[in-house]
Amino acid sequence: MLRVDFHSHSIASVHALNTIEEMLRYADEHALEAIAITDHCPGIDNTQWLLQHRTDSDCWKERISGPDVPYFLTFLSRYRPPSSIKTRLFKGIECNILSHSKEATDLPSFIAHRFDVVIASVHPLPSLFEVEDREQITRCMIAAMDAPIDIIGHPSQRRYCPLMEPLVKAAADKGVVLELNNASLKLGKADIEQTIQMLTLAARLDCRIALSSDAHAANELGEDNEIGNLLKQTGFPPELIVNGTLAAAETFVEHRRQVRRQKTQPNSA
Ligand SMILES: [Zn+2]
Ligand SMILES: [Zn+2]
Repeated sequence: MLRVDFHSHSIASVHALNTIEEMLRYADEHALEAIAITDHCPGIDNTQWLLQHRTDSDCWKERISGPDVPYFLTFLSRYRPPSSIKTRLFKGIECNILSHSKEATDLPSFIAHRFDVVIASVHPLPSLFEVEDREQITRCMIAAMDAPIDIIGHPSQRRYCPLMEPLVKAAADKGVVLELNNASLKLGKADIEQTIQMLTLAARLDCRIALSSDAHAANELGEDNEIGNLLKQTGFPPELIVNGTLAAAETFVEHRRQVRRQKTQPNSA
């Protein structure tokens, strides 16, 4: 089980199943030292998700949207976990990498510096990302690295896989982290060969990675069966994992908050 899990969703993401507090209690009971709750950016369209995954029946036609900016503002400004919970909460967000917009992601810049963890991912939903080819996906992921984000989420998905060599090189150059996502592997969405190539290149080019369950239910938190096997198989260097220990994760979060602040408020020093 992961000690620090950098990617999970609460019921605020609409297609996930537990509240923040239920997630934290499960994490605490299972001795996770920290979890990041990274609900989807307001841009995610759950209606599209539902239509694509299962059904076009009338009952789903009503628009079901995800969390909105006020949710994140309350989460950031006011929410404190109960003091009985020892697991540390990192307040995060998973924003969308955009394909046909002048912005690289849909994270509102006025709020970007306030999170502990910002993941940017491609979700190929019509309003967000229209996949053309691997060059285009690579270009969009690399462009997102200059936005105020920390981690490229699930970058080895079969349906929208970038060219690994330029991606890993750009991440190493720009100090952005690539994610090794357990759910993508568990659900058969990730391309295993591409994931191994990502890890092999990352080890060679000193590119850091983040480990995550991408839990959509409390009892998925900390799951690492799939990623643990790949880390072993590739002999991946533990020093390149940003959340292998709580201390490493805290150092990473602190540093990235400063980087994001510089990117969004360059004169604030
Ligand atoms: Zn995602
Ligand atoms: Zn996610």
